[in-house]
Amino acid sequence: MIREMAESSMLRLPIYLDNNATTRCDPRVVEAMLPFFSEHFGNAASRNHSFGWKAAEAVEQARADVAGLIGADAREIVFTSGATECNNLAIKGVAGMYRRQGNHVVTVQTEHHAVLDPCRRLERDGFEVTFLPVDEFGRVSAEQVERAITERTILVSVMAANNEIGTLHPLAEIGRVCKTRKVLFHTDAAQATGKFPLDVESLGVDLLSISAHKMYGPKGVGALYVRRRNPHVRLEPMFDGGGHERGMRSGTLPVPIIVGLAAACRLSATEMQSESQRSKNLRDHLHAGLMNTVPDCTLNGHPTERLPGNLNMSFAGVHGEALLMAMKNVAVSSGSACTSASVEPSYVLRAIGVSDELAHSSLRFGIGRFNTEEEIEFTIAEVAGAVKRLRELNPKLARGLVDVVR
Ligand SMILES: *Cc1c(COP(=O)(O)O)cnc(C)c1O
Repeated sequence: MIREMAESSMLRLPIYLDNNATTRCDPRVVEAMLPFFSEHFGNAASRNHSFGWKAAEAVEQARADVAGLIGADAREIVFTSGATECNNLAIKGVAGMYRRQGNHVVTVQTEHHAVLDPCRRLERDGFEVTFLPVDEFGRVSAEQVERAITERTILVSVMAANNEIGTLHPLAEIGRVCKTRKVLFHTDAAQATGKFPLDVESLGVDLLSISAHKMYGPKGVGALYVRRRNPHVRLEPMFDGGGHERGMRSGTLPVPIIVGLAAACRLSATEMQSESQRSKNLRDHLHAGLMNTVPDCTLNGHPTERLPGNLNMSFAGVHGEALLMAMKNVAVSSGSACTSASVEPSYVLRAIGVSDELAHSSLRFGIGRFNTEEEIEFTIAEVAGAVKRLRELNPKLARGLVDVVR
C-alpha cells in the first residue's frame, strides 16, 4: 500500500520531515550566493580596491536585509557562524562585560544546548544561573521570570520557540519585565525567525540569535542582534583579532554565505504569512491523520502556542529508535538523544512531565517550505503501519506502556 502510494504519484523518497534540525537551502538563495564565490570574491575589509568595495557593499546590504526582518537597525547586526556562536557571544559576552553589576543569569530548563552549556560554563566561572522549570506545555511565564530576578541579575535568556516541541514563550511580557527591572533580555530565535513576525522593539529584546540554516539559508552563518539604544548593549568579544563587526566578532566575513543569509531573510519576509499558514495546515493535517489512524498517541507541547510546522508526538508502546528504523522512507527525529554512553530521553520532554518511556517513544516531525500534502499522506500511512507492526511484534511492551499513559 505504501509502495503503491509512492509509485502512483511522483513522490520522491525518502521524505525530509526534519526541518527543525536543518532546512534545504532554497535554490533562490543558492543563486544569490553564487557570484560571491569566484566573481565578487573580495575581502569586505579591503578598503583600497573595487574587489573589497564590492564585497563590503554586499555585506552592508545584507546587514540591512537581516535587520529589516526583525525591526532592527543595520548597525545592530553582528554576523557570526550561526546561532551557537550567537548564543555564546550574547551570554558570555554580557557576563564578561557586566560582571561588576552582577553575577546572576536567568534562563529556562528547555533551552537549546547552545544556551544551557554557556550558562553552565558561567556557573563554573562563579556566576549563579537560575534554570526555570516550564509548565506541561513547555512554557515559562513572565511572572516566573520576574520572581527569579534579583539585585544581582544581569541577563535573562529565553528562547522564542523550542526546537523539539515548538512551544512559543510569551516574549513581549518577559521583555516588559526585563525592561522594568533593567535586566538585559536575550532570545534564541533560531527556530522562530521567518516563521512569525519578530520585532525587537515591541518584544523588548536586547539580543537576538538567528541561524541561516534553519530558514532555508546556508549552514555556517548567523546573525546576532545587539541593541544600540535604550540601552546600548556592550559585549566582551569571544575572539580577539582584526576588530571586525565593531570589535565584537573578529574574523574575515564569509561574504557568500552572508549574502545567502540575507536572501533567506528577504524570502521569508515576503513569504512568511502564506508559508506559515501552509506549514500549519500540513502540520494540522498530519496531526489529525495520526490521531485518526494510530491508537494511543499523544501530542507533546502546546496545542496552539507553537511553531507552525512542528509536531512532536508520543506513540505508546513502541521505541522511537525502532520506529525510526521501521519507517525508512521518512526522515524525522526521535525524542531520544544518543550520547556516547547511552540513549537518553529528551530533557525537553522530561521537563514537560513526559515519562521516560513515553519520551523514548516520541517523534518530532518538522514540516517546511518544500513539503507537500502528498508527502504528509504518505507519512501518515508510513507511521501508522510502522506503529502497528511494532506493537504486534511486542504486544506486552505495548500494553504495559499504554497502561503507563493512562
Ligand atoms: C539549531 C539551533 C541552534 C544552533 O544553531 P546553529 O546555527 O546550528 O549553531 C541554537 N538554538 C536553537 C533553538 C536551534 O534550533
